[in-house]
Amino acid sequence: MGAGGEWAARRVTILGPPGSGKGTQGIRLSDFWKVPHIASGDILRRILTEEPDSSLARAARVIEAGKMVPDAVAARIIFRELERPETARGFVLDGFPRNVAQAEMLDECLGQRAMALTCALQLRIDESVLLARLSGRLTCPECGESFQISSAPPRVAGICDRCGARLTIRPDDEPAAIRMRLRLYHERAEPLYSYYARSGRLRVVSADGTEAEVFSRCLEGFGVGVGDRNESLV
Ligand code: AMP
Repeated sequence: MGAGGEWAARRVTILGPPGSGKGTQGIRLSDFWKVPHIASGDILRRILTEEPDSSLARAARVIEAGKMVPDAVAARIIFRELERPETARGFVLDGFPRNVAQAEMLDECLGQRAMALTCALQLRIDESVLLARLSGRLTCPECGESFQISSAPPRVAGICDRCGARLTIRPDDEPAAIRMRLRLYHERAEPLYSYYARSGRLRVVSADGTEAEVFSRCLEGFGVGVGDRNESLV
């Protein structure tokens, strides 16, 4: 148990446009708190590779064109993960919910187990910074870690620092797909931010700066600082 009794369940979702660093910060938070990192995009991509003929994979194929999968499909894969016993102490959701309908489904699902989402952490960033970041992004197909060719390259070119797998450029990081994703994101994001703001669960964090700076901002307000658990930081 660390300072401030922080083993109390932390049920958090990270919100922010593609390229805002949700994946990286989500992994850091989950490593730090020792709770599962549940990333809808990673799970959907895994389903496409590991069970390509399943009904879920057929529904998930739209992600290659930068489109959203139906809400019911996204909810199904996330709720399946939330049933794992490791989530009892908390979890970090990344990429879910993407709209108000999904947020309502999540509240209902947790409510049925007498739980609630503690916090929606919104990573805020300028669109010009996003476009530059996304067009040079390399992603690990195995563990979901991402790198940026110019600002945060892997230690060995083309290889994931975290698990050693070969890095790839995701089909939805191609320019036309990026523009489509940002447009869709903005249409849905504002109502979602309002939904969490209304219930007092929204925290806005600037995603400008180094990964470590943003991480330390993300931790603020959770009753524990970065220095309290140094051993779990990379
Ligand atoms: P991400 O890795 O979070 O950028 O997600 C990659 C893609 O997976 C998105 O562009 C969507 O096509 C799909 N996806 C991920 N999460 C959701 C969600 N909550 N609802 C609908 N589609 C999703």
